Amino acid sequence: MLFNSLNLSKELLDAIHKKGYQKASPVQQQVIPLVLEGKDVLASAQTGTGKTAGFSLPLLQKLQNSKDKSSQIKGLILTPTRELAAQVAENIREYGCYLRFKALVIYGGVSINPQKYKLNKGVDIVVATPGRLLDHLQQQTINLDSVEMFVLDEADRMLDMGFIRDIRKIIKTLPAVRQNLLFSATFSKEIRLLANNLLNSPTVVEVTPPYSTVDKVKQLVIPVDKQRKRELLSYQIGMGNWQQILVFTRTKHMANRLTERLNEDGIIASAFHGNKSQAARTNTLKQFKLGKVRALVATDIAARGIDINALPYVINYELPYLPEDYIHRIGRTARAGQEGYAISLVCVDEIKLLKGIEKLLNYQIEQKIIAGFEIDPRIPPEPIRKNKTSIKRNKSNFKKNRNKKNYNSRRSRSKSSKSKYFRKSN
Ligand code: ADP
Ligand code: MG
Repeated sequence: MLFNSLNLSKELLDAIHKKGYQKASPVQQQVIPLVLEGKDVLASAQTGTGKTAGFSLPLLQKLQNSKDKSSQIKGLILTPTRELAAQVAENIREYGCYLRFKALVIYGGVSINPQKYKLNKGVDIVVATPGRLLDHLQQQTINLDSVEMFVLDEADRMLDMGFIRDIRKIIKTLPAVRQNLLFSATFSKEIRLLANNLLNSPTVVEVTPPYSTVDKVKQLVIPVDKQRKRELLSYQIGMGNWQQILVFTRTKHMANRLTERLNEDGIIASAFHGNKSQAARTNTLKQFKLGKVRALVATDIAARGIDINALPYVINYELPYLPEDYIHRIGRTARAGQEGYAISLVCVDEIKLLKGIEKLLNYQIEQKIIAGFEIDPRIPPEPIRKNKTSIKRNKSNFKKNRNKKNYNSRRSRSKSSKSKYFRKSN
């Protein structure tokens, strides 16, 4: 479906044209008319399917149609991370490049004063992370009384990251009559619960069968001993002449360590995680996009929502604790229909995690042993220690799966499960 059948203004269509979009994506086709009608919407579509334009375009259209030209905050968008907030605001500016309005992005980790100054001068759209927005509310430097449209982006991530209480506090400060949109990559029970409280008889849009778009990503598991992962990674990067590689680790510590090692191996790498200042993260991302940094070594939370065009390689140096995070990680590649590779280096300790992922995907990922890096069957599996933050993030999942997990970990500690699970291939 073309964008011109969606009742969007010439200014918006011109901006869409400038962005190079040809057709509206399925989620955009469904969501845009509903939002223009003023409906509350609960929309779920896989990462990379164009949800941002799904809410931004009709929001801008309504702003354009509105007779009220005062610079009061009429649209409020919440995102789980700073990078995502910056990205959404950037998109809104692009889609609205032929319109007159002010959008402001509000997040922590940077000085609050310039934000106060701009708020004071008046803005139409605010894109914010919950923490800093609450700071402004407490200091009464923001007024949300005029909000007409409230958008929760990446709601599933928000819940995972423990933002539910913050979100509730923010909602309490909004006018009772407003339009609400909730976007999520997945539809869990928790999301439906949140939607029940937040949305007013919403129209539900579920575009793709869950996880179908990850099928565009070529996935591969390379079994390898833990001690040899780094060597293998450097070797693969060199042999394949890989450029622009997003590497995931489970911990900040490992991200730092691996970054150092890759640099020692002559591969320009930068760590990207929550202990880095906002300025450092923004700069690293810029260098990575420019191709000056070859490998970005990131943790799950930091990397969430990063949109890099045509990112060809995602490497799971360590598998994530949560199977859903695997989907999010590999969603960083093969975006908007492009080709991408997701390669997981899996040691014997991680077989349980791999099984969890394959259960969620509902298929087994192809395995390939690299000559010279065969696993040593004498190395016994060790349990993976979880760090504090991941435990906090996963508390609810933990409870649910406690019994199952113990059972699985007992099993994966036995040698037989290892030799059975790493299939012989090539
Ligand atoms: P999501 O929020 O669903 O993960 P995004 O909104 O971040 O996805 O969009 C992913 C990528 O697809 C972005 O680079 C965006 O510019 C691009 N995109 C969005 N809509 C379209 C479209 N209709 N045609 C082509 N590319 C699009
Ligand atoms: Mg998104």
